[in-house]
Amino acid sequence: MRIAPHLSIRGLVTGLAVAAMAMAGTVSLGVNATPSHAATCNGYVGLTFDDGPSNDHTPAILNALKQNGLRATMFNEGQYAASYPAQVQAEINAGMWVGNHSYTHPHLTQQSQAQIDSEISRTQQAISSAGGGTPKLFRPPYGETNSTLKSVEAKYGLTEIIWDVDSQDWNGASVDAIVQANAQLGNGQVILMHEWPANTLTAIPRIAQGLASRGLCAGMISPQTGRAVAPDGGGTTTGGTTTGGTTTGGTTTGGSTTGGATTGGTTTGGSTTGGGGTPGGCKVAYNPNSWPGGFTADVTITNTGSSAINGWNLGFTLPSGQSVANAWNANISPSSGAVTASNVSFNGQIPANGGTASFGFQGTWSGSSFSKPASFTLNGTACSMA
Ligand SMILES: [Zn+2]
Repeated sequence: MRIAPHLSIRGLVTGLAVAAMAMAGTVSLGVNATPSHAATCNGYVGLTFDDGPSNDHTPAILNALKQNGLRATMFNEGQYAASYPAQVQAEINAGMWVGNHSYTHPHLTQQSQAQIDSEISRTQQAISSAGGGTPKLFRPPYGETNSTLKSVEAKYGLTEIIWDVDSQDWNGASVDAIVQANAQLGNGQVILMHEWPANTLTAIPRIAQGLASRGLCAGMISPQTGRAVAPDGGGTTTGGTTTGGTTTGGTTTGGSTTGGATTGGTTTGGSTTGGGGTPGGCKVAYNPNSWPGGFTADVTITNTGSSAINGWNLGFTLPSGQSVANAWNANISPSSGAVTASNVSFNGQIPANGGTASFGFQGTWSGSSFSKPASFTLNGTACSMA
């Protein structure tokens, strides 16, 4: 797909970036930690995959991320979002966040303000039309930025996200090298990867294991700060102001965020829970993947009744020693014992006669053997096991 190197000219642009940040206004901060999940994550990192979506690579990347309990930010090119809207939707359904990576991947610093505006605005439109929400994050191709670009980003309420660590996957890095690059990530930091290199896909299970072994979780990138934070669970929004971002190791993150209490990403929680009615029948498929000390679980609820369900709560009891660290496409609380998984904003409806909703989570466990919950109730009604 795209072999052009993502050259770094960060040293050159840092001065400009700082100047632009000085002009950044104040923003409201959306506070979004989910207390029941936060305890088991000592920090969050921002995994990013650029240059999609595509029919060739996106499904495999999403599957690998889900299987390994990872969420990531997908920086999409507008031209591909327009060509493959179903893959944008698949990214959202898999619990990913979708950002803007320009329409045609040009060297934006060589373009006029009008050309830059077109690249950014058409991509916002293409992603939105595909069901990916209106992006809050922008990654300039090749990491190249200047004050003209920053002014256009500000116009569209976009926060510029470069990276703290470049995996070099675009440059033929080995699987080991990509895993090692991820091992350098500290709390809040962001890594550059791409959806198309085969080695990146192969590295994903080892990236997940490496993060878990260090107590780090894959988070969302905050539009307010440009740093990786806990995924937004639809929590409360509180006031607060910030002026510009932070500069770390020559990489400028954060910056000109405009607009009010944005809650970041495209998964905004806001679960419409309860009140969904008593289902006429339900079936639950619970598929765990465990390794010593950790596991992920994919859960699919099937509505076997003849009425649609609007808003759901799935109750189940985690076996002793198991704890939820991080969930996607559902809010789960508390983190152990008898828990309730409730829908997020986009998957509250389960159509009648075989419609499904899926979610998943990553967790920890102790003991000598791994086991599944014994039973499930949907909005208070017992379900059969699929
Ligand atoms: Zn790119």
